[in-house]
Amino acid sequence: MAGKDVSTMKISSKVWKNGKFIDWDDARIHVMSHVVNYGSSVFEGIRCYNTTKGSAVFRLPEHMQRLVNSAKIYRMDPPFGRDEFCSASTELIRQSGLEACYIRPVIFRGLNEEKPAFGVNPFPNPIDAYIAAWEWGKYLGEEALESGIEVCVSSWTRISSNTMPTMAKAGANYMNSQLIKMEALLGGFSEGIALDDRGYVSEGSGENIFLINNGKLITPPLGAAILPGITRDSVIKIAREMGIDVIETTIQRAALYLADELFFTGTAAEITPIRSVDRITVGEGKRGPITKALQDEFFKIIMAERPAPGGANWLTFVHDTDEKKTAAA
Ligand code: PMP
Repeated sequence: MAGKDVSTMKISSKVWKNGKFIDWDDARIHVMSHVVNYGSSVFEGIRCYNTTKGSAVFRLPEHMQRLVNSAKIYRMDPPFGRDEFCSASTELIRQSGLEACYIRPVIFRGLNEEKPAFGVNPFPNPIDAYIAAWEWGKYLGEEALESGIEVCVSSWTRISSNTMPTMAKAGANYMNSQLIKMEALLGGFSEGIALDDRGYVSEGSGENIFLINNGKLITPPLGAAILPGITRDSVIKIAREMGIDVIETTIQRAALYLADELFFTGTAAEITPIRSVDRITVGEGKRGPITKALQDEFFKIIMAERPAPGGANWLTFVHDTDEKKTAAA
């Protein structure tokens, strides 16, 4: 089934809703849904790549586990588990005809139109789960992966984990991310880096961050106000396999300026080098050699050209006819 063309973007003509496939045009909610008024959603962002062995979703179970974890934190109990969200996603991709796409599951508090409830209390509102998919190119631009991007430190503080838990990928967290992103864009930067409530480096509006100093890879720890990124985890595992020391520790703002290399990681951003922070050139002002080496291995794994570290299965193939169900090359 062909996808739907909206301007230059190809979108799956079907959307998975609470266990059924519906048309894209029918995937609508009431304006008085709890989520619209109070931000009560959790979601995921997942990529399916057109690999050398067919379409495959990168670390699908890990993403869906984070989705159900996010839901649990907000006391949402959808009648679907991790594995059902996984199989719904691969079925949606098959139905969409898309070879490579971005997958967006979202669980939210809706509206019971028979028995409406409009207050902050989320409990009376039904839980709805949807999955959409569309073709999405490089988030920070094709060129960014090679030349790197210019970023700033945001004047906005990252939400603290006891305010809005950053372990949950909740829609409302992205109000904070939007402040960071808008300020960066209006200041002529591609992205902003937020400091946490103690003044230490946390993450970008939609990416984790890594520094390279004297050949070592340094990143804020999971206990900091960051999303436990799946690309972050992948890069740490790849680096360790390459014999690179990985240190998870607090990072001062000024250390960003003095890093030999700096890069963002994320499903959308993949591994994007940063060439300057606050207009201070980082290292040589271009993608550094360790960033490039990590990118090379990352993209080989994603393209099913080599196995993941430790022989782990990081690829879920979408079609039965695909040569292999696992990434073990
Ligand atoms: N931090 C934030 C705030 C994000 O939105 C994202 C993107 N999901 C990330 C980090 C990176 O996470 P992942 O590698 O799992 O996409």
